[in-house]
Amino acid sequence: MKYNIAVIAGDGIGPEVVQETVKVLNLVGEKFGHRFDYQYLLAGGCAIDKLGTPLPEETLEICRKSDAVLLGAVGGPKWDDPTAKIRPEQALLGLRGALGLYCNLRPAVLYAPLKDASPLKESIIANGIDVLVVRELTGGIYFGERGLTTDNGIPAAYDTEKYNEEEVRRIAKIGFESAMKRGKKITSVDKANILESSRLWRRVVEEVATGYPEVELSHLYIDNAAMQMVKDPTQFDVIVTSNLFGDILSDEASMVTGSIGMLPSASLGENSFGMYEPIHGSAPDIAGKGIANPLATILSGAMMLRNSFKLEDEAQVIEKAVLGVLEDGYRTGDIMSEGMKLVGTTEIGKLVMEKIEKGM
Ligand code: NAD
Repeated sequence: MKYNIAVIAGDGIGPEVVQETVKVLNLVGEKFGHRFDYQYLLAGGCAIDKLGTPLPEETLEICRKSDAVLLGAVGGPKWDDPTAKIRPEQALLGLRGALGLYCNLRPAVLYAPLKDASPLKESIIANGIDVLVVRELTGGIYFGERGLTTDNGIPAAYDTEKYNEEEVRRIAKIGFESAMKRGKKITSVDKANILESSRLWRRVVEEVATGYPEVELSHLYIDNAAMQMVKDPTQFDVIVTSNLFGDILSDEASMVTGSIGMLPSASLGENSFGMYEPIHGSAPDIAGKGIANPLATILSGAMMLRNSFKLEDEAQVIEKAVLGVLEDGYRTGDIMSEGMKLVGTTEIGKLVMEKIEKGM
């Protein structure tokens, strides 16, 4: 099969981590008989410098025609003036909106060899952490009606949390589909004891659940979910939740694994289309030094194979290779610990490829 991938390397360490990912994808393609064609596109700070806009129309057009988008990171101190009208991050929001990416998937995995990186006690994470947060991305309070008003003459402001059944149904389905491919457990997070929108959310999730009898569904209120995430994150398999709650919970889930350079993400729309990127930023402090950890982006590549191209075996080959490299004791600076072997961006990319070669 042939797949068209739009590549937005972006700024800072973006191009360095994307380069390793493309090499890994090419090797997997070669091994399994797939062809990946790449089109390199500008977005973010580099696009502002060259074309005066963070998201050129051509970039958007080509992304729309592609099967998936692979993104490094955008932004950096050069474009960080908070008063500037044109900012690199506008590219991300522009891409999500224009491409209809309504679902954000954020797996938070604590790999056994990286247990020291977690801020949680050894006894809590003895069995590792493997949570997938499925966050609604284009609805809820971030998109609801808002404004400034007055309350008996006192200046006031408001934001509105609103979901329609269809918005909840489509994200819930992704949650259940994901659970079917994993541990068949899903936790829906809401605040149904208080919020009307959460009661609708819960009702629709329960209705969707009837189509997935093998999946065990439970509900948690957001305050309890936030506590459980640090008390016992191993209890979670898939979490499905709204835009606001998902924003907070997915960051919390990432932090309990302790290593920003390891975590991938996917933003999905209709028809398997998706945008895949590491959760970290452009790390301007280490850009160009050849020391960035490319594993989050490589794992984002694996998510692309799984979610957009339905290549599950190929995705697992990459994930196993990454785990194997960590088990062998190789580390980039961000995940380095005593007694381990320190390597740079291209070296760790090469080690992943060697594992893939050996594992086949
Ligand atoms: P950051 O994630 O870029 O960096 C935070 C810290 O983690 C830094 O010390 C950095 O060196 C380290 N780090 C991050 N990724 C790493 C990797 N792969 N390997 C090794 N170390 C890594 O966050 P920040 O410093 O807050 O932001 C820097 C720039 O990135 C800002 O302009 C910000 O707006 C932008 N940003 C972009 C995205 C995105 O493109 N999706 C996300 C977050 C931040």
